[in-house]
Amino acid sequence: MKRILVTGGAGFIGSHLCRRLVDEGNDVICVDNFFTGTKRNIEPLLDCHNFELIRHDVTKEILVEVDQIYNLACPASPVHYQYNPVKTMKTSVMGAINMLGLAKRVKARVLQASTSEVYGNPNVHPQPEEYWGNVNPIGIRSCYDEGKRAAETLFFDYHRQNNVDIKVIRIFNTYGPNMNANDGRVVSNFIVQALKGEDITIYGDGSQTRSFCYVDDLVDGMIRMMNSRDGFTGPVNLGNPGEFTMLELANKVLNITGSSSKIVYKPLPQDDPTQRKPVIDLAKKELDWEPHINLDEGLKKTIEYFSKLIQE
Ligand code: NAD
Ligand code: UDP
Repeated sequence: MKRILVTGGAGFIGSHLCRRLVDEGNDVICVDNFFTGTKRNIEPLLDCHNFELIRHDVTKEILVEVDQIYNLACPASPVHYQYNPVKTMKTSVMGAINMLGLAKRVKARVLQASTSEVYGNPNVHPQPEEYWGNVNPIGIRSCYDEGKRAAETLFFDYHRQNNVDIKVIRIFNTYGPNMNANDGRVVSNFIVQALKGEDITIYGDGSQTRSFCYVDDLVDGMIRMMNSRDGFTGPVNLGNPGEFTMLELANKVLNITGSSSKIVYKPLPQDDPTQRKPVIDLAKKELDWEPHINLDEGLKKTIEYFSKLIQE
């Protein structure tokens, strides 16, 4: 049983992680400023004796005695991270400095939720951890991509300079229940549009690809990484190597929901990556981890969640 801090714990991935850690009997402290997260996501945990919620912004310092820190606080959808790009960069960079400072002070192990966005619009496919990426430093996605890259740099410098015990994961597109219905990401957009009978909005011609990981698989990988052997820092890719075009995704959602929504095409946002697929050999070797839930199965569970949400 450990004392564990989860920043961004009221968000989509954070709420699933908090649930797993509480169920395993740990003392969990969730820190969130509710920018994109909601109390609804963690409401079922509020009555648990081993769960505590603190409203706090990670750009400010915090002192709590813990053994492990999962640093997830950061808006993750393009709509939200571009809403206040300066704040996004501050959250990534100052949030990382504050969590690394805390880890150093209380001698905690700290895990950074980094992203496949560090690979930018990749010209190596699929993407192994050794690939340094192809990132525009001055575009509309840069606040997120470069913020996360700077956070990785800080993690490795605190490790080299101060011996902080770090773990870095690079998460590829993850989906599931508790995603914010309005956050503009593709899986939630298509499902909500299909369930409401609205047009399905494909950006560009729909030939761009993504690899979608169901949230339960991801959380399992995160916990394995946090508890992996001393000296293994990562970065390690966590994602499902199944690769789909956005047109394929739209058709899957239409088939499963039985919706009569029409597909419409909208302009492709600037710097939208054309392809993305993780190499997960390192996660298999070091963590004995690979995803088990395929896209159809995961979509069914997610559609079930959104159907209930929309009826409420
Ligand atoms: P999310 O937006 O649902 O969760 C982010 C959480 O962080 C929210 O609860 C939000 O309120 C909180 N937050 C934002 N700024 C904060 C601040 N300054 N102080 C305190 N809390 C703050 O997104 P998510 O999909 O759950 O993503 C969680 C983490 O995983 C993020 O760091 C994201 O970059 C990373 N990630 C997610 C994906 C994905 O596909 N979902 C992919 C790659 C990386
Ligand atoms: N996308 C789309 N329609 C939408 C939302 C997104 O076609 O309603 C596309 C988007 O242009 C991108 C892909 O789906 O190519 C994944 O977008 P998302 O914002 O979910 O994640 P990211 O681009 O950060 O991987």
